[in-house]
Amino acid sequence: MATYDVIIIGAGAAGLMCAATAGYQGKRVLVLDHANKAGKKILMSGGGRCNFTNLDAGPSNFFSRNPHFCISALKRYTPHHFLELVERHGLEHVEKKPGQLFCADSAKDLLAILMTECEWAGAEIRLNTRITSLERAGEGMRVETSNGTHTAGRVVVATGGMSIPTLGATGFGYDIARQFGLEVTETYAALVPFTLTSQWKERLSPLSGLACDVSVTAGKGQYREPMLITHRGLSGPAMLQASSWWTPGQPLDIDLLPGVDAYAELLALREQHPKRQIGPWLGERLPKRLAQSLVEWQDADAGRISERSLAELSNARLEQLAKALNHWQLKPAGTEGWRTAEVTMGGVVTDAISQKDFSVRDLPQLAFIGEVLDVTGELGGYNFQWAWSSAVACGLNC
Ligand code: FAD
Repeated sequence: MATYDVIIIGAGAAGLMCAATAGYQGKRVLVLDHANKAGKKILMSGGGRCNFTNLDAGPSNFFSRNPHFCISALKRYTPHHFLELVERHGLEHVEKKPGQLFCADSAKDLLAILMTECEWAGAEIRLNTRITSLERAGEGMRVETSNGTHTAGRVVVATGGMSIPTLGATGFGYDIARQFGLEVTETYAALVPFTLTSQWKERLSPLSGLACDVSVTAGKGQYREPMLITHRGLSGPAMLQASSWWTPGQPLDIDLLPGVDAYAELLALREQHPKRQIGPWLGERLPKRLAQSLVEWQDADAGRISERSLAELSNARLEQLAKALNHWQLKPAGTEGWRTAEVTMGGVVTDAISQKDFSVRDLPQLAFIGEVLDVTGELGGYNFQWAWSSAVACGLNC
């Protein structure tokens, strides 16, 4: 039986960062993971280039039952701290959108930095290791695994959320939390594409591959970002962001012409060019194929507008058309679920967790960090920043 100061379960973003931090504190650290490779999600992230932080990350970018919980960790280890670390390793990066930093070349470079940090800090990483039980053992914890039994003064659970089971995701962290009497919220797939009812699937799938800038509202969330039509449904940053606010049965309110008051423009256009038709006007504002399809759907659903001049359309008809453009009410059938979701909304309730070191208040030999907690970021590098910030807070105090 081997004894460590800290055993970290999960060799993902948070687990590796915590291992390096604790190792540099002079702790004897072991990281265990059931997968055959560390950091699989890092490699998949950001389209293979990992959006590793967002310089503007702050508490308002996170969803949680306790929105204040993330504040101190994010303040203590900021995006600039992480940037300073990767720059020290010579990582080339690009700012794709304001604040959103990606590896210039490949996410492999970021994972290599974390692995190097773990090596320099003397942290041991064991892959292909199944955890069979976790129990209290005196002042510490005992971890039984497929490769033997280990004890440690502290066990850190960094097993992430449920998204993408093929990358090693499990509900293990939630099971452990429940085993030790902690509450776990309901969890659901977030930052995930929407699926469509058969009517909309039939209409939209011929447009698959087409993207346009929209403003989408779901619940209290509103985002102006690109939307992508896929052969399965709706994706792209706008839809991924909206999915975090969406509840089943709720329609999305999609503005296909953000910043344009379609009704006012159509009235003015009719005044100036009564003989013009809708099609060309719409074709100047939206991708041609989408514009054409929208006119066809209007013909089918609300009475013909194609081949009619604007003068032939009543105010009520123009208003109806404008509403379809500025407030397209689309009810998704659902989401693609865990198979493609980037994150898990919800998780281990933070009330029982110390904001200082992420240990369980009544059981300081157990801690939870990263996505397994009920702290979920928006799209844009926030989820990795949460992994880094929570990991460092924990690692410094192991
Ligand atoms: P993870 O990185 O998921 O690590 C958990 C680790 O625990 C894994 O190695 C897993 O194998 C291991 N594990 C799980 N169960 C067990 C078990 N029972 N026993 C042993 N080990 C176990 N976020 C961003 O900020 N920017 C992005 O660009 C971005 N892109 C993404 C793209 C995709 C496709 C996905 C899926 C996610 C993306 N995310 C992104 C989210 C981000 O990857 C996660 O929020 C982040 O990885 C969470 O870190 P974590 O360490 O908490 O969990």
